[in-house]
Amino acid sequence: MSKPLTDQEKRKQISVRGLAGVENVADLKTNFNRHLHFTLVKDRNVATKRDYYFALAHTVRDHLVGRWIRTQQHYYEKDPKRVYYLSLEFYMGRTLQNTMVNLALENACDEAIYQVKTYLQIFQDGGTGTCFLDSMATLGLAAYGYGIRYEFGIFNQKIVNGWQAEEADDWLRYGNPWEKARPEYMRPVHFYGRVEHHPDGVKWVDTQVVLALPYDTPVPGYRNNIVNTMRLWSAKAPCEFHLKDFNVGGYIQAVLDKNLAENISRVLYPNDNFFEGKELRLKQEYFVVAATLQDIIRRFKASKFGSTEVVRMDLTTLPDKVAIQLNDTHPAMAIPELMRILVDDEKLSWDTAWDITVRTCAYTNHTVLPEALERWPIDLFQNLLPRHLEIIYEINRRHLERITALYPGDYDRLRRMSLIEECGQKKINMAHLCIVGSHAVNGVAQIHSDIIKDTVFKDFYEVDPQKFQNKTNGITPRRWLVMCNPGLAEVIAERIGEDYIRDLSQLKNLLKFVDDDALIRDIAKVKQENKLKFAVHLEEQYKVKINPNSMFDVQVKRIHEYKRQLLNCLHIITLYNRIKKEPNKAWTPRTIMIGGKAAPGYHTAKMIIKLITAIGEVVNNDSVVGDRLKVIYLENYRVTLAEKVIPASDLSEQISTAGTEASGTGNMKFMLNGALTIGTMDGANVEMAEEAGEENLFIFGMRVKDVEALDQKGYDAMEYYNRIPELKQVMDQISGGFFSPGEPDLFKDIVKMLMHHDRFKVFADYEDYIKCQEKVSALYKVCITKNMKWFKTYLTLIGGKHSVLHYMHHQVRSFLLCCQSGNLRVSQV
Ligand SMILES: *Cc1c(COP(=O)(O)O)cnc(C)c1O
Repeated sequence: MSKPLTDQEKRKQISVRGLAGVENVADLKTNFNRHLHFTLVKDRNVATKRDYYFALAHTVRDHLVGRWIRTQQHYYEKDPKRVYYLSLEFYMGRTLQNTMVNLALENACDEAIYQVKTYLQIFQDGGTGTCFLDSMATLGLAAYGYGIRYEFGIFNQKIVNGWQAEEADDWLRYGNPWEKARPEYMRPVHFYGRVEHHPDGVKWVDTQVVLALPYDTPVPGYRNNIVNTMRLWSAKAPCEFHLKDFNVGGYIQAVLDKNLAENISRVLYPNDNFFEGKELRLKQEYFVVAATLQDIIRRFKASKFGSTEVVRMDLTTLPDKVAIQLNDTHPAMAIPELMRILVDDEKLSWDTAWDITVRTCAYTNHTVLPEALERWPIDLFQNLLPRHLEIIYEINRRHLERITALYPGDYDRLRRMSLIEECGQKKINMAHLCIVGSHAVNGVAQIHSDIIKDTVFKDFYEVDPQKFQNKTNGITPRRWLVMCNPGLAEVIAERIGEDYIRDLSQLKNLLKFVDDDALIRDIAKVKQENKLKFAVHLEEQYKVKINPNSMFDVQVKRIHEYKRQLLNCLHIITLYNRIKKEPNKAWTPRTIMIGGKAAPGYHTAKMIIKLITAIGEVVNNDSVVGDRLKVIYLENYRVTLAEKVIPASDLSEQISTAGTEASGTGNMKFMLNGALTIGTMDGANVEMAEEAGEENLFIFGMRVKDVEALDQKGYDAMEYYNRIPELKQVMDQISGGFFSPGEPDLFKDIVKMLMHHDRFKVFADYEDYIKCQEKVSALYKVCITKNMKWFKTYLTLIGGKHSVLHYMHHQVRSFLLCCQSGNLRVSQV
């Protein structure tokens, strides 16, 4: 039934990757050679792969520069409301390919510099968090990302004898062609010192100064000529640093000591959902906030609007022109810092300053796990940021005064709602500070936003219900479909055109093809190609052989107890035992892949990695099992690996305990790439099931209400262990050393945890999970014997009732909400 493409269809197909116009190709070739010669100072005889990569990066970057400058000029002329996204954790990944996609240069580059293509994957990588900036640029918002330019990003993971080992990620060693240092916008950031109260105001004196040096990275929108800016700060010691104390020999020491100040931007803290109260981390948080606020206020004052006399006098119009979005509580210091600037420097009254601050700031919560919530010890604060501590005390005094007026005599409520926790060591609760100091507070999926209103922030919801909102997370379809799965993007474009790349709601137009065998065959073909490609990658990179006709069952995400990689392990061992028991049954072949980094100090997470690899050792070397079950640990899971494995996946594992995963975004990436989901009613899974119909996902296990009921009753893991023979067998194998021959005690901590103090109730969902996996296997078996229901279900999923639109433009609507009053959308440049 597959008919030849019309000319129009062919054009559409090509333009998904950009047009390879003749002038384009010739231009690119010339510029590439020019950069190789003048920028890299190489000729073709001595150029390395890296030189080719840098020459191409510079060539592509040149295409951004004009648009970048014009966009910023345009913002100056129109003076729209600016959105500032403050985050301690974003940095760019795969800038080159992303730029080529968004500027429609990919095909031209393919032709012009074909040999470079194979090198791309070697030199690029990065973390998450830039979906956002892509979406805001694509929507034409005057948006800025602000963060730290870490010298070392998230560590690289090596698996050595089944254990995680960490390696420093020296991503700047060979330079970064995308960033531009802006020493002219360097800012001082103050630490330590003391506070003097004078009749004419407060002075923070005798401070130590560290300079913040900005580096700008362009953020292009999708084919709209807009290029926004991500500005990352790097710490620099001032030249006069400590030099005043030098004597003979002191000079050398003083220069060596500069390193200490510059440690602020040395390394990203790799904790995931865990708060560690280290002073250097608090310095990082204040550093990015202090430098960014100076920049924001400078830009406001220099704007056409801000430089009028009236505005210059008092900054009261700041909220009309500026929205500051706090990504988690990490940049919470923006609230007291803005107050300090307005009260101490700008001499505004407290009430005026507070009104400006609250109307400017908005806060996104990302977790309800108590161990993740930031609570900074007072003495650390007193020493590092004495003036900010005073300001926080005053914010708290006024806040508690208001609560007292609302609830006279309710002292327990005052204790619960205070910004200062008094029990034991005094601490500042940063989430409370954020809620009080913001006009909008959002969770990142409906269920999560409901939970914060009902539980952790209930008291705050009761006094300010209008502050609380939901903004379900999303992913950018540019990176997570067009870039990582061009085959699928083209199959879709052939049917419905390419407008869906900007507006994912149009995927619903695919629904009319649910019964079109040709489309389903095309999707299945792309999936099979992606699987083959990934199998080849695994074989080349890690010398492991997998069966490309098996179901690729994938769980990739940070390793954490709440994400329940252990539940996956129990399923793997159960399957193994079943195959061993009935080796002649026609089992659905599975390749189960698990990947993710563990926080280096998180012992249980590291043991989970060891358990997975140990299970793999046994299962993969059992000749009875053969290729019907394989267990692969995907080393060093990161964006580049996600872009390879997700398009090749058949089954997406989203199995956190209901009520613990705020949203998840991995779940959305898999869905968009044609994997079916096995998952709990948690995070955004709930909305995915609602959109597509629960019958199109494999939903299992306790709902939030069931988890609460079980908590009421008391969770007793032993009850499940004693009642379910297969579970007992699995646990006895782990504790008996079946997966750790010669070292039976190796997993005793994990066993003890699962049996006696498992906060995430793995056993309670075991039975239902196993049953659900049986349904998955049954469906897959039917699929590989021709009935393509798997892909029909996928079509329903991505074309669901309101479609995955819901999940794109990552939270951007939270900015629209907190920026209501301003004209945010800027017409095309
Ligand atoms: C999307 C993504 C995540 C988040 O995955 P979840 O399943 O939502 O936890 C983590 N790491 C990388 C590299 C990602 O691309």
